[in-house]
Amino acid sequence: MPSVYNWQLGRPMQYPYEQAAPKEQFAFVININRCIGCQTCTMACKSTWTFAKGQEHMWWTNVETKPYGGYPHHWDVRILDLLEQANPGAQRWTGKPGDDPHRPYGQFSGKTVFEAPQRVAQGSQPNLVLGYLPTDEEWNAPNRFEDHPPTGPSKPMDFGAGADLSGDKKHETWFYYLARLCNHCSYPACLAACPRNAIYKRPEDGIVLIDQQECRGYRKCVEACPYKKSMYRGTTRTSEKCIACYPRVEGNDPECGGAPMETRCMAACIGQVRMQGLVKVNPDATWIEDRHNPLYFLVHVAKVALPLYPQFGTEPNGYYIPPRWVPTKFLEQMFGPGVQTAVERYRNPDRELLAVLQLFRRSNQIIARYEIQEGRKVYQTSVNGRKFEMYDDTIIAYNRLGKEMFRTKVEEPVHVRPAAHANSI
Ligand code: SF4
Ligand code: SF4
Ligand code: SF4
Repeated sequence: MPSVYNWQLGRPMQYPYEQAAPKEQFAFVININRCIGCQTCTMACKSTWTFAKGQEHMWWTNVETKPYGGYPHHWDVRILDLLEQANPGAQRWTGKPGDDPHRPYGQFSGKTVFEAPQRVAQGSQPNLVLGYLPTDEEWNAPNRFEDHPPTGPSKPMDFGAGADLSGDKKHETWFYYLARLCNHCSYPACLAACPRNAIYKRPEDGIVLIDQQECRGYRKCVEACPYKKSMYRGTTRTSEKCIACYPRVEGNDPECGGAPMETRCMAACIGQVRMQGLVKVNPDATWIEDRHNPLYFLVHVAKVALPLYPQFGTEPNGYYIPPRWVPTKFLEQMFGPGVQTAVERYRNPDRELLAVLQLFRRSNQIIARYEIQEGRKVYQTSVNGRKFEMYDDTIIAYNRLGKEMFRTKVEEPVHVRPAAHANSI
């Protein structure tokens, strides 16, 4: 099997196809700390793309309450268990997170979904990708266990392989909302498993699509995607998945005058937790330094945004700012070894990070570049024993065409209602 480079794992890995990278890559950051679980994103996608007959069970984007919630049910526990069975006790990270963009999280020495199948298959022809096909029941009830915390009066439940929560008592009671969509992975498992070559990754923006003319509904992609974001439609006997709202990303919407626009689920987020963009990539799929692209800054400079289950090996392009109230060991299983740094930096953000965090959801257009104009110091305190200073900086966002989209300030303006209108609405 060919070898490709996976920078999230900090090492080369096996993949059924030769290394190939798009010119730019569709990517997104979701700030879990601010998600309110309102499901506006879920409904924005549903009402745009999956409202037809045969799509009733399809939620291309969904928001599940962790640790128990999952769509399909327990998707992550199931795949973690399969990997553990294939490589018992050896699904580990080695080395330390550092500044090398080729291995920012150290190195994963366990097996990915592409490397594990050979170990589980005994005698029979192995699948190219380790996975499982969820049952119809598992696709039911997409928001099961909503707002359900793991501890409290009842006995804590089993989290599955590798999730040892003992001794980590940050909060007795916790949960968080995990908003998910297809990660438009750099090494898609759905694409690797398709026997018809019906799935392709676009060279211009890395968006992963299923060709509906070519698909014959074998469901190999549904089985292989570790995130379970490819779904089967009985009425057409084909599989479907998130299309990254590509007409908007292509800049065809008249509202944006030819500049790329954010997708429906991103633009609808009233919690202002989602930011989507396009990042430039090298031939080995590492990111080209683009210091003032907000996604590059959040992932590679501030290091507050981390990939979802990087150990699966698909190099997902969805990144999350982990929630600061959740036991670290649970988060490390989900987001890798960068969790502690990410949470510390988010808790006590430096001047630039605080400014960049203001960019979320101020516009429907994709931000290509930002610029900061320094303002006066307005506040000082200490956070966890460390000095924190706040400056009222102005942050300016530019679109792909180099046009200023908006400017906003770190300090929210205060509007005092005149006494004459004190009682009016
Ligand atoms: S998340 Fe799943 S469906 Fe989406 S590109 Fe990755 S492997 Fe394919
Ligand atoms: S990017 Fe578009 S198609 Fe994909 S989940 Fe969001 S709204 Fe749905
Ligand atoms: S719309 Fe935003 S805040 Fe609401 S559930 Fe979705 S990601 Fe969370």
